[in-house]
Amino acid sequence: MARKHGRDVRPVHPAHTTMDCAHCMTRAKHALPLGERTYTCTTCGAVSPRDKNSARVMLIRAGLCPAGAEGVRPPEPPARVAA
Ligand SMILES: [Zn+2]
Repeated sequence: MARKHGRDVRPVHPAHTTMDCAHCMTRAKHALPLGERTYTCTTCGAVSPRDKNSARVMLIRAGLCPAGAEGVRPPEPPARVAA
């Protein structure tokens, strides 16, 4: 799928992505209860929606810079010519 759509696949280990802070990469002592939708870092005080925080952690783990990644799509792959 990634090849077809011209995307770059970077496997990321999923463990602890909801527990790590996307700002200072400190691991929280306890997992956030699922009902708690906001991640607050006890070390640097960063506050962000939990899904956004874990998404950033995954981007950082994949070696990508999450800055400015919001709402950005990779360029469209070249249109396929019908044979
Ligand atoms: Zn932090």
